[in-house]
Amino acid sequence: MPRILFLVCCLLAGPALAGQARVDGIRIWAAPDNTRLVFDVSEPVAHSLLILKNPHRVVVDIDAAKLIPDPTQPGKDDGLLQRVRAAARNGDDLRVVLDLNRQVRPKSFLLRPNEQYGHRLVIDLHDAEQSPARKVTASSVQIHSGPRDVVIAIDAGHGGEDPGAIGKRGTREKNITLALARRLAARIDREPGMRAVLIRDGDYYISLRKRIRKAREARADLFISIHADAFTKRSVKGSSVFVLSQRGASSEMARLIAKRENEADLIGGVSLDDKDDLLARVLIDLQQSVTYEGSVRFARESLRELGRINTLHKKHVEKAGFAVLKAPDIPSVLVETAFISNPQEERRLNDTAFQERLTAALMKGILRYFDQVAPVNTRFAQRRHVIRRGDTLSEIATTYNVPVDNLRVANNLRTDTIRIGQVLRIP
Ligand SMILES: [Zn+2]
Repeated sequence: MPRILFLVCCLLAGPALAGQARVDGIRIWAAPDNTRLVFDVSEPVAHSLLILKNPHRVVVDIDAAKLIPDPTQPGKDDGLLQRVRAAARNGDDLRVVLDLNRQVRPKSFLLRPNEQYGHRLVIDLHDAEQSPARKVTASSVQIHSGPRDVVIAIDAGHGGEDPGAIGKRGTREKNITLALARRLAARIDREPGMRAVLIRDGDYYISLRKRIRKAREARADLFISIHADAFTKRSVKGSSVFVLSQRGASSEMARLIAKRENEADLIGGVSLDDKDDLLARVLIDLQQSVTYEGSVRFARESLRELGRINTLHKKHVEKAGFAVLKAPDIPSVLVETAFISNPQEERRLNDTAFQERLTAALMKGILRYFDQVAPVNTRFAQRRHVIRRGDTLSEIATTYNVPVDNLRVANNLRTDTIRIGQVLRIP
């Protein structure tokens, strides 16, 4: 006989008691450490969760609700959820049984309607064996013998329940940002001394705070959030690069874009207890000016490179209050790669050749930024030489024990003339 562990919660909402609610469908979003089920419900529903063992299951009882004919099933790559079963219970109620591969900590909450969806009941299944404490330990155990890699956190905006902006031809921002993030990460990983960390690597939602937390856990030296914006006027186009402003937006458009991006948590769905104090005001206020300077420096480098391959929406770095840029200790920028609402740019964003040009431009910006600021204890910095007064190419070659010819090739040098401040890559 299955043993009932405990009753997790029971949310009561008035309207469901009056008539019968409908569950019109279920969407399932599998992330590496959690699976989210989103029930489209016709009204806020009263429900309760039961955790069962042997085998592991979560039972969702929804009061006064109608059966879903054919509930969506999880994909094969879902590590937690095995199967979804639904049946009527006590005549008017609905019971949904979630068969699991392992023990989970479930959490549920209701989401209000938005542009795309109506009322929703969200069930989050968190891997019980991956406790937060253990995760922190795992990522902080980094035994270093010698210099480390420069780490760049690439954040693909939106995901899962939050599609982001949607183009006229149906392009979803969340898919474009993920494609671009993966391309950029591949470029970074090809560069010796550099390593990319993908904050999101699949179609699921991560809260804005958790994105920052993941970057900090990875000890990122730079955080790049990738987006593609939309505006009501379809003629608006071009790339822009943003840094965080605590004081207010640099333009009305910047304010609108920040508002839109910050609403992702409402659309993607974040339960109240996710709002932890990691980023307490105090930390934000203590934000080092060096972090801000780094953000602006990288923003300028990347904007210049983007200007070579696309129209710029604004010629200068913009500032606005983006929640995802609020890491107090990691230089962070948000790149609006193009306007998905502009038909021409929507087409380009879907074009793999353009995606390559875009990520190549960002990569150039990354290299130029780290040429200037890579921490001395990184392999990357140790592969760079900044020319000082009196340096000659042959002396540098001797110092690093590389043939002069290799030095010329690695730096595209046609002559042996070098200037003070120039950065040479040491092959
Ligand atoms: Zn966005």
